[in-house]
Amino acid sequence: MTDIQKRLAAVSDSRGRIVSIFVGAVLLPSIALSVLSFNAVPKHAENLKISLLRQAEQLLYYVEQDLEKAARKKALEAARAVGPEGLLEGRPAEIRAALDQAGMKDVAFDSLRLEAWSQTRVPGGPAATGAAEFRALSEALSGVAPRAARDEEDAVALTTPGGDELGVVRFRFRGDYAHRRLVREFFEHQFVNPEGAWVIRVTEPGGEVLYENARSRSDDRFEVERAMTAPSFEGVRLQLRYRDRSIEQEVRRIAVTKTALIGFIDLMLLAGLALVWTNVRRELKLSRLKSDFVANVSHELKTPLALIRLFAETLELGRVSTEQKKTQYHRIINKESRRLTQLINNILDFSRIEAGRKEYRLVRSDLAAVVRDVVDAYRFPIEQQGFALDLDVAEDIPEMALDPEAISQALINLLNNAIKYSTDEKSIRVSVRPEGDRVLVSVADRGIGIPKAEHKRIFEKFYRVESSLVHTTKGSGLGLALVQHITEAHGGRVELTSVPGEGSTFTLSLPVPGEGGGGEPRPARRGTMGNRENLGQP
Ligand code: ADP
Repeated sequence: MTDIQKRLAAVSDSRGRIVSIFVGAVLLPSIALSVLSFNAVPKHAENLKISLLRQAEQLLYYVEQDLEKAARKKALEAARAVGPEGLLEGRPAEIRAALDQAGMKDVAFDSLRLEAWSQTRVPGGPAATGAAEFRALSEALSGVAPRAARDEEDAVALTTPGGDELGVVRFRFRGDYAHRRLVREFFEHQFVNPEGAWVIRVTEPGGEVLYENARSRSDDRFEVERAMTAPSFEGVRLQLRYRDRSIEQEVRRIAVTKTALIGFIDLMLLAGLALVWTNVRRELKLSRLKSDFVANVSHELKTPLALIRLFAETLELGRVSTEQKKTQYHRIINKESRRLTQLINNILDFSRIEAGRKEYRLVRSDLAAVVRDVVDAYRFPIEQQGFALDLDVAEDIPEMALDPEAISQALINLLNNAIKYSTDEKSIRVSVRPEGDRVLVSVADRGIGIPKAEHKRIFEKFYRVESSLVHTTKGSGLGLALVQHITEAHGGRVELTSVPGEGSTFTLSLPVPGEGGGGEPRPARRGTMGNRENLGQP
């Protein structure tokens, strides 16, 4: 295996390795993760729904507890206002009067009684006996048949201000008072509802709405409901919904957000992968192009050197008989050494540009003269190769700020290409002409031409068109990249018109500084060639 083949094999090896790392370490785990995440969304949504419903049910439970507590408090207040004796006597009219007197006119009970004295009030007697006696007594006094107090009445301990238990107050508020007044008072003064997040509706068992802390539309669904069991509120229903959206809508919203987020992350991941992939491909391609470059340059160096050595040795050994032959050999040596110089100049310039060390010294110069000098210097070798070389310089080319050496090099590169990529029709035409606020320097050939699709890419470093002639013609792939860099350093641009099979015209369009002139060239410019795509724009 040759060196180059080995290098190319290494490049394709590393490509395979990177692809497997990519697929194995990044792509597959990412796909698996997204599939799992997508699948988990409905399950999470279901769990969330259950937990939100539970939360709402719990809230209603606490509302019920607090409402009962508020009722007990009110009953205790009333009991204190009436006093134990009044309660024990249990005469409704007296209880009523005592309540009115205590400013509790509107408080209405179905029943209010004291059930049991505590031990402290029955010295010496066992508590249980005392309690039973007093229950019997109070029932007798109230004239009400004994009933299952636990189910029909609520109870609250009556204590002295010192904390001693006096007995148990049994009570049951009147339906309309409990259902309307107590409920309203509770929700208006005690119910804590941060930011009004919950809407609570209280209804009679029959459906009549007793209270609602916010308006509801007919399509608003109260998702959680609880029937109260406390005697004063029996059958009253507490209903709850979230103010802005239902639990179902909330769960759906969260599920949609989550799905969108996962989708977005996936998209970002894909974009990232695509970015990494293009970069890797670009780097691999660049390394392949570099391998080609090394191979091409070595060949480019070897061929002229071999020729120079061969003809120099032949001349040195005095084996050349005729003067004509001698001159011919000298010409070959001259031509090959020029080629070498040009190639080495290109490579040196390229490495300076890549390192950001290339500087252009723009001085006021006669562009027409620079072009003429290059053409004159190359006319002989070009014509020797059977080319017709035409130079057409317009009269009125203004002086302009340029780096003559760099412009010459760009022109030589264009001439070299015109020679290299011409087959049967060997004709080159160089022209310099003003056009508006620019001067155009063109090199036109009738060679193989360049397909439209390649017009941008041929200006990339190392890039060479894949064609049989280009294959056999050696080159570094740097010539046009340098031409473009030099032209742009002068504030100009390279234009290309070419038809495959008919020829190509490369034009350096350089701005003329001064009145109305575009793009004043800078006195000295540094710069790198940057990435290949930067070089792609002629
Ligand atoms: P090189 O000539 O060393 O390959 P260049 O950068 O000078 O590198 O040119 C890049 C490619 O552009 C060439 O390989 C060739 O395919 C194409 N090219 C350049 N000039 C011409 C031309 N005058 N006619 C046809 N093809 C050309």
